[in-house]
Amino acid sequence: MTDVLPHPATGELFASPVPPGTGWPGDPATDETPVAATAAQVRRLAGTADLAELDARVSVCRACPRLVRWREDVARDKRASFATQPYWGRPVPGWGAVHPRVLVIGLAPAANGANRTGRIFTGDRSGDWLFASLHRVGLATQSTSVHAADGLELIGTRMVATVRCAPPQNKPSVVERDTCAPWISAELGLVVDTVEVVVALGSFGWDATLRSFAGLGWDVARPKPRFGHGVEAQLVGPDREITLLGCYHPSQQNTFTGRLTEPMLDDVLRRAAVLGRIVA
Ligand code: SF4
Repeated sequence: MTDVLPHPATGELFASPVPPGTGWPGDPATDETPVAATAAQVRRLAGTADLAELDARVSVCRACPRLVRWREDVARDKRASFATQPYWGRPVPGWGAVHPRVLVIGLAPAANGANRTGRIFTGDRSGDWLFASLHRVGLATQSTSVHAADGLELIGTRMVATVRCAPPQNKPSVVERDTCAPWISAELGLVVDTVEVVVALGSFGWDATLRSFAGLGWDVARPKPRFGHGVEAQLVGPDREITLLGCYHPSQQNTFTGRLTEPMLDDVLRRAAVLGRIVA
């Protein structure tokens, strides 16, 4: 039996996972949003020209059986420290500016982070690092990101995950990565006209960015530029170039070990803010 619990911000009651169109803050879907159940349906439904509709379709996708099972099991079982909260338990769409100048591309939602709160990078340690840094460099209005009704806004920035469902051990399979790829490709296609700089978090985000831009017909250097922290590469489109910036993922594996420090993260995101002409 599914429990029904109050949202930590609004107090409204929700089942876990959250049914579409029931009032969850920021839920882009309704109960009429079409659901992709296969890779072919993902490809077809990613064909919308409307970003809000794309977000809605992403948020109800069920095309990867293993990931659907995992995200919903986590949503029902819950980590003990979040046992009194409802869990989103659905794919996490892109979030932020509709006409972004800076695009941040990560790996996938965390099982007890975005898979709980419904907003990318929100509610986990990686997000704590990331949003604090985005705030320090002028790309976010608040330094914390707690839940989807906390009032936080990104400034000229949009964040997307390469794979939209939380995977076990943070490791999507190649088939799952490829099944999900049309969602990010479609999203890039809809926002790319205003983007000046892409920040890829980790090598997975880096490779996904290169693959997605190549799929859009952009030129990426050959041989493929190697990922590294602070590394810059150019993505060459039909009439302009975008800078791709590499950034170590703010995972606990990197932040606990000192591989990624706050100044290192700030340096890359500040560079993005400058290239995006959001700060001087
Ligand atoms: S990972 Fe992507 S394609 Fe697979 S179920 Fe989630 S949203 Fe759909």
